[in-house]
Amino acid sequence: MNLQNCLDVVQRLFEGDLPKAAELASFIDACAPDAFSGPVPSEAKNMESLFLAEAGLEARPAEPVCRIESSLSSDEAGRVREELFERARTRAREHFGNSIYVRGLIEISNSCRQNCRYCGIRAGNGQAERYRLSPEQILECCSHGYELGFRTFVLQGGEDAWFTDERLAELLKSIKASWPDCAVTLSVGERSLASYRLLREAGADRFLLRHETADPVHYAKLHPASQSWQNRMNCLHALKTCGYQTGAGFMVGSPWQTTECLVKDLLFLRDFQPEMVGIGPFIPHAQTPFAHFPAGSVERTLVMVAMVRLLLPFSMLPSTTALGTAAGNGRERGILAGANVLMPNLSPKEARQRYRLYNNKLSEGAECADNIRDLRKRIQAIGYDIVVDRGDFRAC
Ligand code: SF4
Repeated sequence: MNLQNCLDVVQRLFEGDLPKAAELASFIDACAPDAFSGPVPSEAKNMESLFLAEAGLEARPAEPVCRIESSLSSDEAGRVREELFERARTRAREHFGNSIYVRGLIEISNSCRQNCRYCGIRAGNGQAERYRLSPEQILECCSHGYELGFRTFVLQGGEDAWFTDERLAELLKSIKASWPDCAVTLSVGERSLASYRLLREAGADRFLLRHETADPVHYAKLHPASQSWQNRMNCLHALKTCGYQTGAGFMVGSPWQTTECLVKDLLFLRDFQPEMVGIGPFIPHAQTPFAHFPAGSVERTLVMVAMVRLLLPFSMLPSTTALGTAAGNGRERGILAGANVLMPNLSPKEARQRYRLYNNKLSEGAECADNIRDLRKRIQAIGYDIVVDRGDFRAC
């Protein structure tokens, strides 16, 4: 793929015309050739076979899509990325002006029954210091967040059995009674359709549940056999059925991720039409099976953010904490690639330090909601501004 081919792909994406899988894969490889930020460990092959066997799958190489070889120099690849980011910013500005929406993130519990292999708070991590916020503490966080100007609260936690439907519903009703002009987003994992329905009726407006990967075989490498890709998909569809503004999303550079996986992610997002999409680089956690894998590439992550902005122009697209952790100015770079949401942390300090999904996860500085003034200055310095607004999805 030469420079002109790549610029043509950018133009077509801008016009809302999604190229075929082969072209998309060739484009991603051409403008962000490195999938990972370092070498893959020697044990990766054995681990892969082991995980596939556990899932009852054959260790067979995935069918690669037919690629067009890249002939781009690194300068040319940089030029294509800049063109892509510029087009993504144009699209975002058309719909959101220079507004950046903030959500106050409250990490309600780091206990989890699941064992996602990439996650630092997985049930199997015996070294994680567990905590759970009480409903009173959560309401205090909301009260503080409201004073700071937040109009969306995101209650995020592991799949903690203490948070039954009844307890969560009561909490939602209290939040809505005290701050009726605020939206509440839940991010509490896989539950039944009946549970999602009950929580929606109790006042939850939105639900974040990353699909993680649209490739079922890749999913089986990232999760134990007890967690199924099909169930994740069923949950996402159940959320839409219940009327949530629904958030999907994925990591870039997770172990064994191929460019084909990313293309499948794009096609899934086109078909599913989520209202929100969370995209961040994979960052390893020292107490997980993926401790020795390299982090995902920041450039490739930004390319995916920009492509998703063009694919889903109205979507609420956060510049994620993982992006801020992987690169010093990652939050700003995410916005300059088309993101329009930030999620500063409203959790109490001790909780922030224990909610370690990956190594060195940011929880201080501009990541902390108390420092929203500093964050605003940083965002203003790149030509945007933080607004006091629920920031609901609007397709118009
Ligand atoms: S990613 Fe979520 S569901 Fe998976 S182990 Fe971590 S907190 Fe639990």
